Amino acid sequence: MKFRAKIRSFKDITPTVRHFNLEVPLEIDFKAGQFLITDIPTETGKVKRSYSIASDPTKKGIIELCVKKIENGVGTRFYFNLKEGDTIDYTGPVGPFKIKDYQKNIAFISTGTGIAPFRAMIPDVLRQSDKKVVLLTGYRYDEELLYDKEMKELQEKYPNFSYYTCISRPKEGKGKYVQELLEHLPEDAAVYLCGLRAMIDDITKKLEEKGIKNIYFERYD
Ligand SMILES: Cc1cc2nc3c(=O)[nH]c(=O)nc-3n(C[C@H](O)[C@H](O)[C@H](O)COP(=O)(O)OP(=O)(O)OC[C@H]3O[C@@H](n4cnc5c(N)ncnc54)[C@H](O)[C@@H]3O)c2cc1C
Repeated sequence: MKFRAKIRSFKDITPTVRHFNLEVPLEIDFKAGQFLITDIPTETGKVKRSYSIASDPTKKGIIELCVKKIENGVGTRFYFNLKEGDTIDYTGPVGPFKIKDYQKNIAFISTGTGIAPFRAMIPDVLRQSDKKVVLLTGYRYDEELLYDKEMKELQEKYPNFSYYTCISRPKEGKGKYVQELLEHLPEDAAVYLCGLRAMIDDITKKLEEKGIKNIYFERYD
């Protein structure tokens, strides 16, 4: 489906990530985990860039996205030049990255803005399941953590939800990669991965070595 959205507001939530709050037609319906394809006008024609929906599917008429600034990136240049009230053309929501089985233990693993679809999926799962749900996130720098306060609040609210995060290049101390958090995986969990290819391929290999079969992923590059 093609539709037009209007920017209600946006906020820089880290030095390189901008969170957008979009007003969308009320009939837009999506499943937690899906993404939107942005039609970006350029001098040489339209280009398309995908962004995961980072908001709860039960909120009608609103979609939130979080966009990382990539140096000289076409898509990010477009998003970072937008103002409140501007409109954006989209196709979607689309994508098969959705919760396959709500009655299973689940681990969500992300790096960077790969947390975006999980911000939609986690509340969706927690409302429907009392199985164990774990979120493992990794970032490069201390100031890059996304939705940290929200995730801690969910952890307080839902005893079946645990959240672990790590920084690979911290200001102080030794860095840690998200791969080093795999000890927190619940037993017999389905694992959902989101982020860049290098992390996804590496973790998938590690999970397969552990005999984990239910692995689903969304690659950003
Ligand atoms: C299904 C899907 C969902 C996505 N959801 C999000 C999202 O929620 N938030 C978000 O910020 N991005 C998301 N992306 C990535 C996004 O679509 C763009 O690829 C990204 O914004 C870069 O586009 P660009 O036009 O700015 O850069 P381009 O001009 O396309 O240049 C991209 C270059 O930057 C490199 N690169 C470095 N970091 C990244 C990165 N994080 N993502 C992509 N390429 C990177 C690539 O390898 C490539 O060489 C998603 C991608 C897919 C396929």
